[in-house]
Amino acid sequence: MSHKPTLPLEALSLSITQYVVCSKCADELAHLDPPQSLQDYAKMDIGFTDYGVQVWCRRHKANIVHIDFQGQKPAADFRRLETS
Ligand SMILES: [Zn+2]
Repeated sequence: MSHKPTLPLEALSLSITQYVVCSKCADELAHLDPPQSLQDYAKMDIGFTDYGVQVWCRRHKANIVHIDFQGQKPAADFRRLETS
């Protein structure tokens, strides 16, 4: 993992275009009364592994996605941009 910043500053604000979701959580959410947002309902662990980055559903104790870096060291930007 290269920690040298490579992204433009504006990329440090919320830039997610496609959320990672657990399909089981999404299914359950459809039947919740009162309704809840997926962000509030989902309980995920996200972290680095020996292979890359894993997103884990804590609610279902299941893998959501495990991104395989295939031995590469992709650039990662850990700078924080505090928003209020
Ligand atoms: Zn889930």
